[in-house]
Amino acid sequence: MKIFVDFDNTIFDTRHQFLNDFFGVFDKYGVSREVFDSTLPYFSKTSLQTGECYSPESHIREIKKLTEQNINEKQFLQEMEIFLEDLEKYVFDEDFYEFANNFDKKDLIILSYGEDNFQSQKINGSGVKQFFEDVIITQGDKTKEIEKYIQKCCGRDSVQVPVLIDDKLGYFESVKHSQLNIKTIHNVRGGEFCNDEKNCDMHVKTLREIKKSLS
Ligand SMILES: [Mg+2]
Repeated sequence: MKIFVDFDNTIFDTRHQFLNDFFGVFDKYGVSREVFDSTLPYFSKTSLQTGECYSPESHIREIKKLTEQNINEKQFLQEMEIFLEDLEKYVFDEDFYEFANNFDKKDLIILSYGEDNFQSQKINGSGVKQFFEDVIITQGDKTKEIEKYIQKCCGRDSVQVPVLIDDKLGYFESVKHSQLNIKTIHNVRGGEFCNDEKNCDMHVKTLREIKKSLS
């Protein structure tokens, strides 16, 4: 069994305390929360349209364009690098470690969407890499990455049923069009259950529930 696990908001609590502390680095360089927040949506739009994913470098670039603020970019990036070195406290520790320990490391793969360098820094900083056989970072389609991986590791005629665990439902439709019979698990994390039964095989509120269902 190969289980592909999303990183942001599945393993790592990106949108709450991490985001606040991450903003703290911008704050030190005179960026207001208002400007920080208002320049973020640029990336969700462009990553779909042009393939440009979020990174602190490109965020600073957008902020400079908008505000014409004079920011010491070199110093900012150095400070950001240091901040990203130690991120263990943002891992969902109430369920991630239990989940990871319930599976063989060789079956677990991180599959994360985003800019290579920034995602690597976050994943390295979180300390969770030790629980995974591989880490895949993509700026494209997660389905293609799963297909490529399964073909490489298990051969074309594999009878593997790969599993994708993700908090974003958007990935599941494409996954369900794959030649592979991929099982999809929506990680809700306190949010609402969806009713997309066609593309979503299962909902969980925490990663802890997953062991039961797969064994
Ligand atoms: Mg996610």
